[in-house]
Amino acid sequence: MSIDLLFDEMWEKFLVCDGEYDGIFFTAVKTTKIYCRPSCRSRKPKKSNVEFYFKRIEAEKSGYRPCKRCQPEKEQTPQMCLINNVISFLLENYKQNILLEDISKHVGVSSFYLERLFKQLTSETPRTYLEKVRIDKASHLLKTTDLPVIDICFESGFRSLSNFYKVFRGVNECSPSHYRKKMSC
Ligand SMILES: [Zn+2]
Repeated sequence: MSIDLLFDEMWEKFLVCDGEYDGIFFTAVKTTKIYCRPSCRSRKPKKSNVEFYFKRIEAEKSGYRPCKRCQPEKEQTPQMCLINNVISFLLENYKQNILLEDISKHVGVSSFYLERLFKQLTSETPRTYLEKVRIDKASHLLKTTDLPVIDICFESGFRSLSNFYKVFRGVNECSPSHYRKKMSC
């Protein structure tokens, strides 16, 4: 299993400085030879000058130096590492039927502790975070493919169409087909 994030998805997270992806991937800028956390507030480079790495070490092997501003080489707290592990697990397995117990077993802490810590650090529960990941995937497919909505529903990890519609509406404030129409014009 590997983290299932496409270039464009990472680019979008990077543009909005999404701190929840810190530690999940790193952004490297070919022209400056510097790499950053996704949340870095430095000026955004051109898309064609950007590379993404899932491991800091790989960026450094390719000759990139850490950014002085966001300090991506700094160790994270054990709590942040645990949350990163959880998010990586969700990104690797979002197509599966994941239960809270599966996640807590994977990271080796109790479900109770996991849920509390996750909420503290991301203000979401693992469940709502997973739903957001799935809706991100679905939105991306709606924008970039002609797949029927029902296929996209299952492809992004939902088990029922009605639940997909409900969650989609909650996040994007419109139906999947309306969203597709909006994005195509
Ligand atoms: Zn930076």
